[in-house]
Amino acid sequence: MNFDLSDEHRMIRDTARKFADEVIAPRAEEMERTGEYPYDIFAQMAELGMMGLPYPEEYGGSGGDWVGTMLCIEEIARGDITVAALLEVTTGIAAQEIFAFGTEEQKRTWLVPLIEGKEIGAFGLTEPDSGSDAASLKTTAVLDGDEWVLNGAKQFITNIGLDNATILLAAAKVKTGRGDVISTFIIPKTAKGFKLGRPYRKLSWHASATSEVILEDCRIPRENILGDPNRGFAQHLAVLETGRIGIAAMSVGLAQACFDHALRYAQERTQFGQPVFNFQAVQFKLADMAVAIELARNEYVKAAWLKDQGRPHTFETTVAKLYASEMVEKVASDAFQIHGGYGFMEEYAVSRYYASAKVLQIVDGTSEVQRMILGRMLGSRSDSRAWV
Ligand SMILES: Cc1cc2nc3c(=O)[nH]c(=O)nc-3n(C[C@H](O)[C@H](O)[C@H](O)COP(=O)(O)OP(=O)(O)OC[C@H]3O[C@@H](n4cnc5c(N)ncnc54)[C@H](O)[C@@H]3O)c2cc1C
Repeated sequence: MNFDLSDEHRMIRDTARKFADEVIAPRAEEMERTGEYPYDIFAQMAELGMMGLPYPEEYGGSGGDWVGTMLCIEEIARGDITVAALLEVTTGIAAQEIFAFGTEEQKRTWLVPLIEGKEIGAFGLTEPDSGSDAASLKTTAVLDGDEWVLNGAKQFITNIGLDNATILLAAAKVKTGRGDVISTFIIPKTAKGFKLGRPYRKLSWHASATSEVILEDCRIPRENILGDPNRGFAQHLAVLETGRIGIAAMSVGLAQACFDHALRYAQERTQFGQPVFNFQAVQFKLADMAVAIELARNEYVKAAWLKDQGRPHTFETTVAKLYASEMVEKVASDAFQIHGGYGFMEEYAVSRYYASAKVLQIVDGTSEVQRMILGRMLGSRSDSRAWV
């Protein structure tokens, strides 16, 4: 394997790092405390071209690749995980599904505004009774003249509760002569019959707009069906794979923030007449954290690189998502431990990081689902190294 970061990758990473340090991180505590979404930060990110990093210039994108996009997501997550979630879902999932499967007209109508930051993207697969078993969804779509009529509910949808113009890519069942198929529909939040459910009371991620969506005789134009009507589920799974690289990058960014704070604290906090960093027990913790972060970073970059090469990357993507999301929970816990009692106090960022880490093992497929994917792949091979 021949891989190195290009000058462009470094430039994207350094720009995102500076933006995270100077613009996002100073606001992160307030955003989490108040739950107020920073619309101005989003506007600046769009201006910097972050929403269109992997898309061609003809649609307003930067013509970059997925390695650069994921490096950017990591850095933004280091500043604040909820801002990274917005970027990841809009760019990594919603925009990608339209880019990969949309008609030219759909790309002009829906992709360009996402890239320009005029709209936000959301992705609606999960329902109250279908999570890991996503194909058992119950939302239906029926063609009525020139309109699709959708009925059902979507659960835990990221980005949908914001004031911005937002589109939801929703999966729904359509009856055909040969049984039900799952298709994907582009639904603007302004569509008739589109309602938000009650707000959730969440453990963390307060500045990420997670909402229930109720579709009640929701009417959208016939042309808002996305891609092959028979392959809506497969389309969703394909883009979710990239979403998982994004979750791995977010996990690494959050873990890096934990590490940075823990290292600084260990160097500054004095006990027994010396910085606690001097104690080998603390140094070993930091060493283990650094190793785990580095391994997780290498794996998500590798998965993104394989995607950029057009090569199979399901194994690497799954390993990256599973490892990074479990890694960040342990790293956040160790960072808390190094802070002692102060780690429990809200004025120390590690308390926020600790509360933010766990859900990364749930979103875009739980750890158990990732292990099921790996188990299935390993069952048909004799050697896990076959993918290197
Ligand atoms: C903050 C947040 C944001 C989200 N954003 C979105 C979004 O934007 N769009 C969207 O569509 N969804 C979103 N989700 C939903 C998320 O993808 C689901 O929560 C996730 O897929 C798990 O589904 P579930 O919660 O219904 O859990 P369930 O599927 O009910 O699982 C419960 C438990 O059983 C385990 N389990 C289930 N099946 C198996 C099995 N076969 N073998 C072993 N264990 C199993 C699970 O791993 C889990 O531990 C979001 C969730 C959260 C919390």
